[in-house]
Amino acid sequence: MSRLQFVVLALLWTMLHGLSLSWQYRQTEALSHEIAHEQAQAFFAYAVSVRVWSARHGGVYVLRTPESPPNPYLKHPRRDLETRQGLTLTMINPAYMSRQIAAIAAEEVGVQFRITSLEPLRPENAPDDWEHAALLAFQSGDTEKFARVVWQDRPYYRYMAPLPFETACLQCHPHDPDALPKTRGGISVSLPAAAFDAKFQQRVRELAWVQGALMLLGLGGLVGFYAVNRQQMLRLEKACKQARLAFIDPMTRVPNRRQFAFLLKKLWSTAIRHELPVTMMMFDLDHFKAYNDHLGHHQGDVCLVAIAETLKGFFRRPDDLFARYGGEEFCAAVVCNPEQGHKLAEQLRAAVENLRMSHPESDASPFVTVSVGVATVYPKQNTHPDVVLELADRALYQAKQQGRNRVCLPP
Ligand code: GH3
Ligand code: MG
Ligand code: MG
Repeated sequence: MSRLQFVVLALLWTMLHGLSLSWQYRQTEALSHEIAHEQAQAFFAYAVSVRVWSARHGGVYVLRTPESPPNPYLKHPRRDLETRQGLTLTMINPAYMSRQIAAIAAEEVGVQFRITSLEPLRPENAPDDWEHAALLAFQSGDTEKFARVVWQDRPYYRYMAPLPFETACLQCHPHDPDALPKTRGGISVSLPAAAFDAKFQQRVRELAWVQGALMLLGLGGLVGFYAVNRQQMLRLEKACKQARLAFIDPMTRVPNRRQFAFLLKKLWSTAIRHELPVTMMMFDLDHFKAYNDHLGHHQGDVCLVAIAETLKGFFRRPDDLFARYGGEEFCAAVVCNPEQGHKLAEQLRAAVENLRMSHPESDASPFVTVSVGVATVYPKQNTHPDVVLELADRALYQAKQQGRNRVCLPP
């Protein structure tokens, strides 16, 4: 795994957890709203049930107390009664009962109910802005309203739905239908959001901890994997380098004699199978000892590298072999006939001389030159490539004998 891959993976992993957390945050928030909505609906249903119960009984009588004084808005012939036992009773109609229960709910659990209408009988029942908008929406056919709003400087979940039509209302106002509001009112339920928010935040904190721990665990695993993988890669690279060095000449960067011998065997087998000619060329620098002695060993190395580079450029086909065979000797094997081989060897010899590397100590040329021995063999079954190597070596000896800087065939 490369460093870039590691960084990309780590970023992706982190992003994945970020996305997951934000998704869960939104889901939890939606769930919190849903629970608030359902709770508000339940409160509404309860308030309506209480109202309906009272309406079906045509209102109920309770003891007249400072907490339950007579309802001045209730126009009923028997609003206040006195029992034979001398108890003073007053009628609690549905609206009055709802108001009283709402006061208890607000005091005990902080939930606020309000019965309101666009044309309230009691001025205190006038809708606030949010309720007013909801009541208008009901007139256009909406069945409920639910929203999280800031109300009385605190966040609230507010719910409102129209009051179901209850014929029992007429029991209280049988002869006075004008006293009934002309538009249907509604009950608004307001739940303080603080309790929901506290639960939501606690859940989000738990989620963040779990998600963070999972992310760190994964990142730790990734770092561990990266470290082990990196170590293995370094070891592998080192092993590859060593293996390469075993087959490559470190100075000239061309294959060494070991690799040449290995590949020559394969080339030899292929040539036997397909009855192809193998041409071997051996190159030896002329008077190179004198070159070194005169210009120094370092310059000798520079010269060897330049010649290796030049010769290598001629062997580009997949089957061509070229190597540094010894100190200042190079070797090449190609699949070609004797004429092509001789022609190529001559081109190579000329290419070296044309490098025009000055060699004042040579009697073969004013420049560095090579002698080349060329031999071509059509390999036969059960023969060894040494056959052609030996022939090329003998041809090289001829080239030296005949004055150097030339190409010779075996005698
Ligand atoms: P000849 O024309 O007969 O080949 O003469 P020569 O002086 O080249 O003779 P020979 O081939 O025996 O000499 C080889 C010389 O090549 C000896 C050594 O100093 C030089 N040589 C071999 N390997 C290296 C090398 O890696 N670097 C340098 N600078 N010189 C090398
Ligand atoms: Mg030599
Ligand atoms: Mg030599």
